[in-house]
Amino acid sequence: MATLKAVRGTRDLLPPETALWNRIETTARRVFARYNFGEIRTPVFEDTGLFARGVGEETDIVSKEMYTWEDRARAQSEKTQMLTLRPENTAGVVRAYIEHGLGETGLLQKLYYIGPQFRRERPQKGRYRQFSQIGAEVIGPVSAGSESPLRDAEVLEMLATLLDELGITGWTLELNSVGSAADRAKYNDALRAALEPVVGQMCADCQRRAVTNPLRVLDCKVPQDQPIIEKLPVIADSLDEASKGHFAAVMAALDAAGVPYTRNQRLVRGLDYYTRTTFEFTHGGLGAQNALLGGGRYDGLSEMLGGPKAPGIGFAMGEDRLVLTLQAQELNQSSTPRQGVDGFIAPIGEGMNIEALKLARELRQTGLSIELGEGSFRLKKSFETAEKVARRIVILGEDELQSGILTVKTFATGVQEKVSRAGLSGFLAS
Ligand code: ATP
Ligand code: MG
Repeated sequence: MATLKAVRGTRDLLPPETALWNRIETTARRVFARYNFGEIRTPVFEDTGLFARGVGEETDIVSKEMYTWEDRARAQSEKTQMLTLRPENTAGVVRAYIEHGLGETGLLQKLYYIGPQFRRERPQKGRYRQFSQIGAEVIGPVSAGSESPLRDAEVLEMLATLLDELGITGWTLELNSVGSAADRAKYNDALRAALEPVVGQMCADCQRRAVTNPLRVLDCKVPQDQPIIEKLPVIADSLDEASKGHFAAVMAALDAAGVPYTRNQRLVRGLDYYTRTTFEFTHGGLGAQNALLGGGRYDGLSEMLGGPKAPGIGFAMGEDRLVLTLQAQELNQSSTPRQGVDGFIAPIGEGMNIEALKLARELRQTGLSIELGEGSFRLKKSFETAEKVARRIVILGEDELQSGILTVKTFATGVQEKVSRAGLSGFLAS
């Protein structure tokens, strides 16, 4: 029988790598808490319409990357529904914001999420069909200050802090403004006009985009199209005074906070809901998939989903890419030797198994990490196993139990010594 494997584009995360994932998530939670963000967990699948409306029909995500299926009715009272595995989490968060009337509190909602997202993409390094995002949103009524450029700056400053605390060095913040919906309509017209004489020389996707959504032409990655794209008008020239002022205020706040950035006039981002500020943090070590995270402002999204006016700004970080970046960095540093658990208890003879279990319980309750051996093993095998998984081995035989004096060997030094049972926990912790 053919063996079953994880589906293409999905993977198993195993220890010790999962320790790195946990460290990233713990650091993110700690930083988010300092900025007064609370966690939201939305369902992994939603009504397809949420993404069609929220992310945009013309985007790559909706037009070709979604996992969608028809969920058949199971009873007369149920309707057949089109469902989709979430390809991103902002639409779900804004749906929840509307559904639970969070705007009625009159307060800004600062929400973060950590979880899997699904896109049917061509799998490659840093690009998977199931991947994990760590993201956050600041959303609320205008009266709560949700439109303020200070919110944009706060989110960007938080991200700089988070990447620094994760130990990711050498990131670049790329920043742009795509203006209001009206600005973008104006820019789309300018692009259409500029594309008309040249679009015939461009890729098939661009020929389609030039008609349906010219802004998306700027996302094109086809090398031959780049010289044409470089000569297209830039969006900065289509921004109205309010959008220009907003963008200037974001940059002034970043300057004041000491967060470095570079302006990238082509950065329009792949989702239709963005307004004004858009940004990406990139990292040179990632190769072709160089975006660590992306985000921006989405002042009209709530209304697009049938909700109240609720401007917001958010981002999503690719956790898989954070892991890749940190792993590459650690390879460049002298690797720290594997530590293992604090102690391995080796009972001598099966009769000592229960006593070993009791000792392990005692030690674990003091906060130590302990692995439990097996009394039927010969001592040599216990030593060999222990050396692979623990820093020290503790021998527990009938004599040790009676005398309360145990033999402990520290593998790093090779020293074997006698330790009283009362002093064992302190010794193993040292
Ligand atoms: P890309 O240009 O790499 O396709 P994107 O614009 O589609 O990115 P977003 O939708 O903005 O990405 O998602 C935010 C972040 O999520 C990205 O910057 C990236 O780090 C991560 N990400 C997106 N798609 C994937 C994927 N298929 N596998 C792993 N990480 C991903
Ligand atoms: Mg993509």
